Amino acid sequence: MDAPQVIVVGGGGTGGALAHDLVLRGLAMTLLERGELTSGTTGRHHGLLHSGGRYAVNDPESAVECIAENRILRRIAPGSFEENGGLFVALTDEDMEYLPRFLAGCAACGIPTRELTVDQALSLEPGLNPALKAAVWVPDATMDAMRLVVLIDASLRGEPGSLSVRRVEPHPATPATWSHHLDPEALADLAEALYGAAPPMVLVSVAAGSFARDDRLSVPLRRALPEVVEAVAGVITGRPSV
Ligand SMILES: Cc1cc2nc3c(=O)[nH]c(=O)nc-3n(C[C@H](O)[C@H](O)[C@H](O)COP(=O)(O)OP(=O)(O)OC[C@H]3O[C@@H](n4cnc5c(N)ncnc54)[C@H](O)[C@@H]3O)c2cc1C
Repeated sequence: MDAPQVIVVGGGGTGGALAHDLVLRGLAMTLLERGELTSGTTGRHHGLLHSGGRYAVNDPESAVECIAENRILRRIAPGSFEENGGLFVALTDEDMEYLPRFLAGCAACGIPTRELTVDQALSLEPGLNPALKAAVWVPDATMDAMRLVVLIDASLRGEPGSLSVRRVEPHPATPATWSHHLDPEALADLAEALYGAAPPMVLVSVAAGSFARDDRLSVPLRRALPEVVEAVAGVITGRPSV
């Protein structure tokens, strides 16, 4: 590969998404991360897919960005969100005075809202304070980053540049693999043992042309890159049967 055209610093959500986008546009790029990928703020997020409701009155510009991103993410990563919506709840008279401004702000930013009766809100979320005066539903959602784990690796086996995509089923490690050679099956098994469940995992493996120390990809791997990107996108969107 030629010298990188772009260097992205930071492997969180912002850097990761930027790197992904640059590769899709055919640019050579290198991502630098001082720790583990997602070891910064990204690894600590709550998983809320914002509708923008919370910004609709005081920061409409952010609210408009939120609802636009919300729609894009639902389209490009279907199945990664629990469509549980979000509720804005009024508990005090002051909250009730704010309600018309909130509804008008959402409408101006293109954020759909639905006013619920107290009974409707409580049946949706029985844990709410029963003294609530009003509730407004917005299209928030919950993102679960662990719904699907895609592992991408370079394999020693196979014709250089050839690609394989397979599901990973938990399987206990043999003592010989209890090292940095721990394979994906053993990782899944470990997750089951520790947390009682393993997420769905898919392994995208590309046979490497060379494992020599270098900062460039071998020619066969470079040729295979668009196919790898396509395969990963297919796994995420559930396109191919693996
Ligand atoms: C507790 C909490 C909950 C949140 N919940 C939500 C939520 O539910 N929904 C939501 O949308 N947002 C949420 N957010 C906000 C969201 O997590 C952040 O906006 C987002 O993760 C920021 O991503 P980032 O890539 O910009 O930053 P980061 O994830 O922090 O990534 C920056 C990366 O750069 C690396 N780095 C820094 N300096 C260097 C250097 N010199 N060289 C190399 N690498 C470097 C760091 O190690 C880090 O990995 C939450 C934030 C917090 C704190």
